[in-house]
Amino acid sequence: MGCRVFKNNACKITFKYKGNDHTGIDLVGPNSTFDYIVAHSAGTVVAVVSNCNKNTSKTGERIYGNYVKLKHDNGMYTLYAHMKYGSIKVKKGDKVLKGQVLGYMGNTGYSFGAHVHFEVRNEKDKYIDPTKYVDADLPKEETSTSSSALTHKVGEKVTINGVYTSSTSTMRLTPAVNTGKITKIVEGARNPYLLNDGGLGWVNDDCIVSAAKKTTNNSIKVGDKVKVKKGAKSYKGTSLASFVYNTTYEVMELKGDRAVIGKNGAVTTDIHIDNLYK
Ligand SMILES: [Zn+2]
Repeated sequence: MGCRVFKNNACKITFKYKGNDHTGIDLVGPNSTFDYIVAHSAGTVVAVVSNCNKNTSKTGERIYGNYVKLKHDNGMYTLYAHMKYGSIKVKKGDKVLKGQVLGYMGNTGYSFGAHVHFEVRNEKDKYIDPTKYVDADLPKEETSTSSSALTHKVGEKVTINGVYTSSTSTMRLTPAVNTGKITKIVEGARNPYLLNDGGLGWVNDDCIVSAAKKTTNNSIKVGDKVKVKKGAKSYKGTSLASFVYNTTYEVMELKGDRAVIGKNGAVTTDIHIDNLYK
């Protein structure tokens, strides 16, 4: 597998992550070969131990032997343990680039044969399963633009549809439309957006119909079957024939708050989307 922890960009896992029982993963080269250990991502060296020249017992602070710990721009940490005595190339406070050599694989600390014990820790310095990050970027900061699948950001005010999904169930809100502020995003979650610190629960993209500052009914999309509110006028304010209010139309075009509606491919009128309903 590709590997951002080794200079040669290849490794195999010899011991899996097991939470408290094994707080990282153990890696060696693809044929149990040795390699230089490099920074997984750019960051700052926040801890170094380089004076360990032997194996140690299972407990105590020397368990990692020689190691380097980095803090990354997204607030997360990576840690590289059991490095060879005398091989460490960085010191605390150094800025490192992705792929920069930190040291060489070794067998210092509580270790049986040369390998690197690789840990990933979250912003609270709590270890998480590093397996999926061996050859991938760490998650982006929660406050930054999130992954391409997520279209909203922390701090954004949004309007949500009358029906939305909490982390545990589907709920119907009263009134049918509510506005809230995204206060947290958990990427990869089924409902990644937390609204109003939980006051409006967790929702996904499907539940967010618009940014709250827009007053228009953005739940209308091109291709939707819609009806026209009784008495509504055209976008420019001209009156419409009475049959218009009794007919179902298709939204043929949409730009801002102006929709073009028609039937069987023929345009009937343009109209403000607030005058349409499904
Ligand atoms: Zn390990």
